[in-house]
Amino acid sequence: MTEPIHLFAPYFRTEEVLEEIRECLDRGWTGLGFKTVEIEREWCSYTGLQHAHFLNSASAGLHLAMRLLKDQDGWQDGDEVVTTPLTFVSTNHPILYECLQPVFADVDEYLCLDPLSVAERISPRTRAVVFVGLGGSTGRLREVADLCRQKGLRLILDAAHMAGTRLDDQHVGGQADITVFSFHAVKNVPTADSGMICCRDVDLDRVVRQWTWLGIDKDTYSRSHEDKAYRWLYGVPNVGFKYHGNSIMAAMAKVGLRYLDEDNGVRRRFAQLYENAFAGRTGIEVIPMPAGCESSRHLFQVEVDRRDEVMVELNRRKIYPGVHYRSNQDYPMYRNLPGPCPRALAASQRVISLPMHLRMSEADVQRVATALVQIVEG
Ligand SMILES: *Cc1c(COP(=O)(O)O)cnc(C)c1O
Repeated sequence: MTEPIHLFAPYFRTEEVLEEIRECLDRGWTGLGFKTVEIEREWCSYTGLQHAHFLNSASAGLHLAMRLLKDQDGWQDGDEVVTTPLTFVSTNHPILYECLQPVFADVDEYLCLDPLSVAERISPRTRAVVFVGLGGSTGRLREVADLCRQKGLRLILDAAHMAGTRLDDQHVGGQADITVFSFHAVKNVPTADSGMICCRDVDLDRVVRQWTWLGIDKDTYSRSHEDKAYRWLYGVPNVGFKYHGNSIMAAMAKVGLRYLDEDNGVRRRFAQLYENAFAGRTGIEVIPMPAGCESSRHLFQVEVDRRDEVMVELNRRKIYPGVHYRSNQDYPMYRNLPGPCPRALAASQRVISLPMHLRMSEADVQRVATALVQIVEG
């Protein structure tokens, strides 16, 4: 009996997670505050970023990023945001939520935004660029950040895949106005659903904390811990959202963070095994890593001809890879937008993400690699 090998499978240190959660239950504090404060501090000290605010998802963070920058800079409806079509739709939906105009730029060999294409797509109405570190890669993030600085554009980094990624030995995030990480169950810091929003600017960080709790200007925790009169009173200066994270998710994230570097090391070893297996093979193109990038290796991606047939053949052998991603231009709300993206379109039809998770063994990696080579070489 061959066991199925799935693309992702969350792995939890059950006893450690339960111990963290037990503290919440014993203390009677499962919501905002307590563990959410702890994980924010730990995330800042791990990444070296100045500010971090714990969220109920990265999707919430990406929406909030768009909303707050629009508010703060006074963007008008219909103003443009340059973005990649090769991503999860939660990168791009916020542009539509905020009545802005997505403009797709093409990707490069790293499957991340190509700065040359971004430069071409900038118009007088462009306000921001959203960069996605696909699979944990930094791509040409630095060039895109330089371009944004030159042109006076805001930069949002969708770092959903990038927990633990370093560029020249520094964690990512410093390049962007706002960086958003995901701690969804299948991402590199696994919880159930949560995320982190990191603002470069202290004032924006302060506003973010109000907006993630319905626009209320003080959180419960600090109200109940400040010994002053009228602490039951609070102001509501903005129509905010319920986007903050809770202590149960934070408890899970704390354990995930403890093992993040170790786990990413395992992923990088698996990636190396895949690379070794495909070296010198024709018909399997490994997506390269840019120099200086120590990737979280959320994904290991290759491109092949006849991708869909190859996927079906892998499935017949109980191997279930994924596709990251179908071009968002395939979906009705992103069709017919300005900007042809031939490289992204080709990738959309050719990429495969091979199984990559901590429940796999090296033998599983070999089994996947051997199967793919057999199928592709016929
Ligand atoms: C998973 C993911 C998100 C959204 O993360 P959630 O925490 O599930 O909301 C955003 N962007 C990309 C590229 C993702 O893969």
